[in-house]
Amino acid sequence: MIGYIRMEIQHHCEAVVVHCIDFRFQKRLNEFLAEKFPEGYDRIAIAGGVKDLVANGKESAIWKNLEISSNLHGPKSIVCIQHEDCGAYGGSSAFGDFAAEQQLQKSELEKAEELLKQQFSQQIETYFFTMEEL
Ligand SMILES: [Zn+2]
Repeated sequence: MIGYIRMEIQHHCEAVVVHCIDFRFQKRLNEFLAEKFPEGYDRIAIAGGVKDLVANGKESAIWKNLEISSNLHGPKSIVCIQHEDCGAYGGSSAFGDFAAEQQLQKSELEKAEELLKQQFSQQIETYFFTMEEL
C-alpha cells in the first residue's frame, strides 16, 4: 500500500542544506532550519555531511544534488552543517580533544565552501552543531 501525502506547490526554495544523517541532532536541526527558512529548503542528508563533497568534489553525490536543487528550485543560499561526534569521522574518540575535532570540522567546512564557490553563485553558510557549551 502507498500512503499519499499532500505537498507544497511552490517551486522555489530559500536554501539548500547539506547535513549528516545522524538522528541525534535532527530535532534541533529541524527547529533551526524551520526558523531560518520558513518558506522552505531543499535537504541533502548524507552520512558525514560535507565529507563526501570534500573528498570527491564534483563527483560527489552532494555536488550532483546541489546542481539539481540549484537548477530546479533556485535556492538563495547553500548551507553546510557538520556536527560533533560524527561517526563518519570516527566519532569524537578519534580526536585527541574537542579542540582538535572542532578544528577538523572547521577545516572541512572551509574546504567545502571553497569547492562550492568555484561553481555556485549562492551565498554559502556553514555551521557546527555541538554538545559543548561554547
Ligand atoms: Zn554524522
